[in-house]
Amino acid sequence: MKRDFREHLNPALRQIGVYKVEGGQEAEVKLNQNESPFDLPPWLKEKILGEFRDEPWNRYPDILPYRGMEAYASFLGVSPDSVIMSNGSNEMLYTIFLACLGAGSKVLIPQPSFSLYEKIALLLQAAVVDVPMFPDLAFDVDAVIAAAEREKVDFIVLSTPNNPTGKSLSRGDLERILDAVDSIVLVDEAYIEFSREESALDLIGRYQNLIVLRTMSKALALAGMRIGFAISNPALMAEITKPKIPFASGRLAEITLVNVLANYSLVTDAVNYILAERARLQAELEGMPGVEAFESDTNFLIIRVGDAGKVFANLKEKGVLVRNVSGYPLMENCLRFNVGLREENDRLLELLRRS
Ligand code: PMP
Repeated sequence: MKRDFREHLNPALRQIGVYKVEGGQEAEVKLNQNESPFDLPPWLKEKILGEFRDEPWNRYPDILPYRGMEAYASFLGVSPDSVIMSNGSNEMLYTIFLACLGAGSKVLIPQPSFSLYEKIALLLQAAVVDVPMFPDLAFDVDAVIAAAEREKVDFIVLSTPNNPTGKSLSRGDLERILDAVDSIVLVDEAYIEFSREESALDLIGRYQNLIVLRTMSKALALAGMRIGFAISNPALMAEITKPKIPFASGRLAEITLVNVLANYSLVTDAVNYILAERARLQAELEGMPGVEAFESDTNFLIIRVGDAGKVFANLKEKGVLVRNVSGYPLMENCLRFNVGLREENDRLLELLRRS
């Protein structure tokens, strides 16, 4: 008798599920994916589309998107061979994990954190060493260092500011970890533009084992374009490039990135708006009975309520989509929502007041 097809699959598939966005991706007020509420202005879209029209669509783009990489390297003030661009930072996570992990290697992940890290690690049959955050959701730095040493981990992933907690590692604590460990350290800075803490970018010259990950999906408001970057010293970057999917970024993504970087005041204006609204939301939520609000360094906020399932469903029914993050460790009855437009935030506040 023939064997069941499942027996021939990667055994890790039994431990993981298909990526889902609970509640879907459509809503009148959509606050569930940490996106920017600001799309590009029509004049800039027209300019980008004009440049894209003149490209040869029948030809492969560059193996790696060098135009985008040169533009971003010059924007950051690093050498072009210190960066690679990917089709979203999710794709870069796969690339980096492929370069760093295999069966038997060990990866340390402070928990709760972005769920994709664990998923890719399991797919590669690496062992995951979870280190819990403190109950107030702050990083437990001593526990990270102790576990890294005890377990002799090969790889550490630090999302700072962290999704889904909204908390950052301080610069001093990050340096303390980097000084203590010899593993590869990936610092995912998806939300860095909203943070009170500085970026780790200037540390790539000092720490040969450090990789910084960036996305254009949050502050740069380009989630639909799928653009991410890794930045490290050129020798490590050359290794990370080996498993990279060739031709993964399309011409449109590169052209869009170059144009948005050339008009970066659009981004700083949007970030300033979001930071002002975040402060307003935070103040309002702190005075709300039945709501515990956590301070955030990102474009989203975390609150704890009496019954997160009920509040989530009530908001959804009224057209406001947030994320129920109650299933994460330490986050019982917590909801996550990104900062939206002022009127969207008002609507959320009003519904929460009545919940
Ligand atoms: N890292 C973190 C911490 C995130 O929260 C996200 C998106 N939710 C990503 C990476 C992936 O972003 P993208 O693939 O859109 O670049």
